[in-house]
Amino acid sequence: MHESQEGIFAMADNSSKYKHIFIDLDKTIWDFESNALKTFEDIFKKHNLGARGVNDLRTFLKVYTRHNNLLWSHYRKNEIKKEVLNFRRFEWTLRDFNINDPILATHVAEDYVSLSPQKTILYPYVIEGLNYLKQHYDLHMITNGFEEVQQQKIDNCDLRKYFKTITTSEEAGVKKPDRRIFDYALKKANASASVSIMIGDDLGVDIEGAGNAGMDQVFFNPEGIAHNGKCTYEIKSWMEIPQII
Ligand SMILES: [Mg+2]
Repeated sequence: MHESQEGIFAMADNSSKYKHIFIDLDKTIWDFESNALKTFEDIFKKHNLGARGVNDLRTFLKVYTRHNNLLWSHYRKNEIKKEVLNFRRFEWTLRDFNINDPILATHVAEDYVSLSPQKTILYPYVIEGLNYLKQHYDLHMITNGFEEVQQQKIDNCDLRKYFKTITTSEEAGVKKPDRRIFDYALKKANASASVSIMIGDDLGVDIEGAGNAGMDQVFFNPEGIAHNGKCTYEIKSWMEIPQII
């Protein structure tokens, strides 16, 4: 980190109204796309997918992301179980490459769940941002991901030391944007919503959900996607965090 960047992270005052910062994991801290790409590299080699007609990892990731996002929207509403989500996202992706092989899809799905949490690529300045925030606030995590996967990611990325509490949707029994998971996490953190703020990448899930629970929100929008959503703050980079909280 350059001196000027350290300077930005040092520009803190203690006048913030917030005491508790709640942060999402996937696509806010943990760089889902880069880590998925690394995981697919491993899976390609292991299952020799090149010989099955899959030539381009990025195209595979794009197709996978489309199916994964759709299936996650069903999973969030409890319309499908996590085992179905995990299997079907690969069954459908492989099918789009003319590979109709449920056994292979099962193996790829198992490998994805075991290999992806070993990947540790975080967004730029996450660690600097967490170190800054930890000096001034109590940090907490709220994540919708699979319990066993998220706990491994947290340990492999050495993130546990930053967080006083970690709430997963499987533990809470409900998923974001249901306000009950925010209420659950606030209670667990012994925090009130009025002095709490949620940082997350998903307007409909993190930002709307936190807002419904009475919390302020920071929308992390690294690609600067245009939107009509409401949020207290919006950032493109973790570097901007000390300027707002
Ligand atoms: Mg997220």
